[in-house]
Parts: sequence; structure tokens; C-alpha cells
Amino acid sequence: MGEIDRDRLQVPFSQRPIMILGAGIIGCATARQLLLNGFPVALVAEYLPGDQDIEYASAWAGAAWHAAGGITSDQQYLQAVTHRILLKMAQDGPESGVSIVDAREYLEQEPTPNSAIWGKTVVSKFREMSSGEYPSNFHCAWAYETLVTDPTRHMPYLRKQITSLGGQFIRRRVGSLQELYDMFPDSRVFINASGWGSKDLADVQDDRCFPERGQNVFLQTEQCHTMYFRNGTEYTYVIPRPLSKGVVLGGVKQQDNLSPEVDMDIACDEIARAHRLAPEIVPAQPAEDTVSHIIGIRPSRKGGFRLDSQRIGNRSVLSAYGFGGGGYAFSYGVADALVTMVAQAERENVIDGGRSR
Ligand SMILES: Cc1cc2nc3c(=O)[nH]c(=O)nc-3n(C[C@H](O)[C@H](O)[C@H](O)COP(=O)(O)OP(=O)(O)OC[C@H]3O[C@@H](n4cnc5c(N)ncnc54)[C@H](O)[C@@H]3O)c2cc1C
Repeated sequence: MGEIDRDRLQVPFSQRPIMILGAGIIGCATARQLLLNGFPVALVAEYLPGDQDIEYASAWAGAAWHAAGGITSDQQYLQAVTHRILLKMAQDGPESGVSIVDAREYLEQEPTPNSAIWGKTVVSKFREMSSGEYPSNFHCAWAYETLVTDPTRHMPYLRKQITSLGGQFIRRRVGSLQELYDMFPDSRVFINASGWGSKDLADVQDDRCFPERGQNVFLQTEQCHTMYFRNGTEYTYVIPRPLSKGVVLGGVKQQDNLSPEVDMDIACDEIARAHRLAPEIVPAQPAEDTVSHIIGIRPSRKGGFRLDSQRIGNRSVLSAYGFGGGGYAFSYGVADALVTMVAQAERENVIDGGRSR
């Protein structure tokens, strides 16, 4: 064994940075939570907070907290934790870009037990709306308070927080996780938060990952304090962005479409659907100078996201990717779950396995 190898064995775990691949909402939320727990952290990513490439989903999200239907109770809890942490940020002031807004959710069908109804235990002021309060073509409707995150503010906020807590950003595209292991031979914990990138990493090649294009309309308006959500086959939302004085109109999901061009047919359809949903906010024909367009690629995964820990040689490799259209709503819960996994790896290194690893 060479001198350098012997030296490396002497590096205490507490000085081996936790390496995160990816600086979207998942990588950055995780970095923040790890740093708050005292772990040293470095993030490696091609795109960093503030960038605006369409493949960098976190720059383009709505990004509303909405309870997802059809998920497990463990996944529901990830969303609940996210809600708790985002609520605190919203209460602390506008700097984080998180706001508390009213929500009105209209349901085309009677809700099933596995629907978004579970969210009523998490949000504030939940109530069933009475008939007459919502359009008669819906089966029922809910009113509650929810949280919206303005990514144009939240991502730069996270960048600042991570840097001030001692985290390090490294801009670099890698072809494999092995490339990261070679860059950081001392590190024992690696977190893959590369979103759709996990399809192409040579030693991941997750064929379940696929791109799902979203295109939204951003409408400038002072009426930006209420979310409208149509739950059913005509999937439509109006997500307020109070700190940017506007609302986000959507949505559409286009599998395997990577076009950066605005599709005006989609934009007109979204405006028409949003007008039907919230005519008091969205005019049938908004003035041209009040409308702009948002295009982003959701990092989706058949069968749902991946969140697990593997032991590979003397490293712990944690995977957290494939969050599709819900990365913001899961973000801080996922980050907290990863902190627990990192703490387990810490224990294995410093107590159970000692420095022989
Ligand atoms: C139009 C639209 C609306 C949305 N609305 C909502 C919403 O209302 N609520 C909600 O919760 N979510 C919403 N989402 C989804 C949300 O944006 C995503 O789920 C979330 O941003 C995914 O975050 P991520 O960190 O996993 O991936 P990303 O933000 O895509 O980040 C991936 C990171 O990995 C890096 N990376 C990947 N491969 C490599 C490599 N080989 N080398 C180096 N770096 C690499 C990238 O550079 C980037 O830093 C929406 C998305 C879109 C597009």
C-alpha cells in the first residue's frame, strides 16, 4: 500500500465530502439539509441554480405543492415533510420564493380512497365546498391553503444558502458515477440526483427514465393569490406566482418530445382551458404583452421515482431521481430521507466498520 493510500485511510469520515451529482431541486434541497446537519457537501452538475436550459427541469416548475394521488403512504409522508419545511420558509419571509396561497380543486369524479384526498391532513383550512360555490359540471370541490415555490427565486436562494453553509458547487458534466469516484477518492457517500441524466450515465443506464416535455403559459396579472386545479381527464392548473406577479397556466405532458420551440396550438389550448377553469383570472384572449412561455423537460421514470441506498465496494451510493412532474412537492422530504441514509452510512464507517474501510 502506497503512502497516499495509507493517508487516505486516516481521513476521518467527517472530513470526507458527501458528493452529490445534480444541482436541481433534489440535489440542492439535499445539500442544504445535509449542511444543516453538519456534513461537508460538494455538488457536481452541468447546470447550476440560475441556469435556464430546458433539460434543467428545476428552472421551469410551476411549482405547486399538490398532494399526489396513487402513491404509497411512505411517499405521502415525503410530501408531508416537504410541506412542513416549505411552510416554515414561507413564514420566514419572501426571500425563499415560497408563498402561501388559497387553492380550489375541482374534481370531475368522486375521489377514490387513494386519491389526493389524503392531503387534507397536511394542508391548512381544508373544506369541502358546497354546491353553488363551484361550476355544476364537477362532482365536488375542495378549498384549502397550499404552497407555491417560485423557482426563479428559490433556486438562487438555495445556491446562496448552500454556499454560505460551506457547500461547494463544481460545474462539470460527467459520463459515469465512476468519473465522480475518481474525482473524489476520499469520499465514501455519493448521491445520484441527476434527474433524466440517469438514463445516460454509463454505470446507471436506467432505461425506465424518459423525458416528458412540459409547456406552460405565464400570464402577468395582479390576481395571483389563488391556485385552481382541475382534477380529472382535462388536467389543467392555474398556479399563482405572487412574487413574480403572474400565474402559470398548464398543463401538458409530452413523452419523448425535446422540442425547445413554443407550440402555439398548445399555448392557445392551455389559455382556453384555464379560462374555463378560472374566468375571473384568465381572460379568453389575454393581451399579447402579458403572455410569455415556459418550456421544460420533466425527468420522468416508468414505475415512479427511485430513492434507495446501495453499498458498492467501500462506497454508499444513494439514488434519488425520476421525480417527473412532482420534484418540488417531494423535494425536502426526499432530502430528509437522504440525510437519514447518509447518517446510516456514517455509522457503518465510523462505528461498525471503523477506519478499515
Ligand atoms: C413545466 C413544468 C411544470 C412543473 N410543475 C411542477 C409543480 O407544479 N410541482 C412540482 O412539484 N414539480 C413540478 N415540475 C417538476 C419539477 O420541475 C421536477 O420534478 C424537478 O425539477 C426535478 O428535479 P431534479 O433535481 O430531479 O432534476 P433537474 O432539475 O433536471 O436537475 C438535474 C441535475 O442533474 C445534472 N445532471 C444530469 N446529468 C448530469 C451529468 N451527466 N453530469 C453532470 N450533471 C448532470 C443537471 O445538470 C442538473 O443539475 C414541473 C416541471 C415542468 C417542466
